[in-house]
Amino acid sequence: MTKEKAQKYSYWVNTVILLMVFGLMAFFWMLDVPFLVIFSIPTACVYIIGYFLIYKEKLDIYVWMVYLWLSIYMGLTTICLGYGFGFHLYCMSMIPVMFVTEYLAYKLKTRSLKALYVSIAVCVVYIVSTGYVSNIGPIYERDESAAKVFWLMNSVIVFGFLIFYTNWMLSLVKESDKRLVEMAHIDRLTGLYNRHYLMELLQGLISTDANDVIAMADIDYFKKINDTYGHNAGDYCLQKLAEILRGYSDQATVGRWGGEEFLIYLPAEKSKPDFFENLRRKVEETEFCFENNNINVTITIGIAKRNTHASVEKWIQQADENLYIGKNKGRNMCIEKA
Ligand code: GH3
Ligand code: MG
Ligand code: MG
Repeated sequence: MTKEKAQKYSYWVNTVILLMVFGLMAFFWMLDVPFLVIFSIPTACVYIIGYFLIYKEKLDIYVWMVYLWLSIYMGLTTICLGYGFGFHLYCMSMIPVMFVTEYLAYKLKTRSLKALYVSIAVCVVYIVSTGYVSNIGPIYERDESAAKVFWLMNSVIVFGFLIFYTNWMLSLVKESDKRLVEMAHIDRLTGLYNRHYLMELLQGLISTDANDVIAMADIDYFKKINDTYGHNAGDYCLQKLAEILRGYSDQATVGRWGGEEFLIYLPAEKSKPDFFENLRRKVEETEFCFENNNINVTITIGIAKRNTHASVEKWIQQADENLYIGKNKGRNMCIEKA
């Protein structure tokens, strides 16, 4: 939800409420309740001012005004007509709306009412107005059949609001949760899984197949690439290599272990002969071109099969050791030693 969206949405809600005010005004006139007909005039004015506040992006003042006026409106209609008409039910539908409003304001980093306090105030309006009616009775005794129609209509609207807003709140929280999990697991530069995710994955492996393999791939002379072509060129190489690695994601889980090191987990059932050698060759043969500079990029890969008795840390260490053997032997090669 962006500020523009919130503004657009507020225009829409304001229009719906304003139309409802006019509809109810006509209804109060038909029922011959002059006080509520007259009260509908300042009510309509409040929503007309609402358009101005939305336009000026004063959404916090707009929400304040709407909630304050709606509470007065609900209290007065209940006292005038009794709760047979179901206007008091709107108090309940207001509560999830207020919490969603506060949550959205928090997300948009704008000021907002404290939904908890407003809910308590709305609850007081409910108790006072229904308490008045049940003890003293409504000011205007009106047609029972009209009350039934209104009670049904208001109940449907109130429950509609309750269901819609509670469900919306849940979907907003789920969406935000999903994004946070993604952010915690994904490396920003390459879009690959990060070290934290890979560690969780390896530690959570149920399979203990001794043919499961991990490999540590490290770009050769990467410091020299940075020094010669600049840090942006280095970043470009990391992203391009990540793109190549992503091409293997149907067989292996690939992530950025840190710096210019990438970890590849290849489960036994997906393993193919020469998988890593093919990957190494593919990187060697791919053209890395940044700002008209052809950069020669190669990787060295240290491979380690799973030792079912050893820890995940040991497994990774084995891959690391093999990687450094490859580096010492001259780079751009795959090493797999027990
Ligand atoms: P070797 O062949 O032995 O692996 O040598 P190397 O130069 O690749 O390794 P070294 O560890 O000496 O240098 C790694 C460099 O990677 C140093 C660091 O500045 C750079 N680096 C680490 N993370 C990033 C990054 O996110 N972007 C860029 N551009 N450079 C990075
Ligand atoms: Mg390196
Ligand atoms: Mg390194």
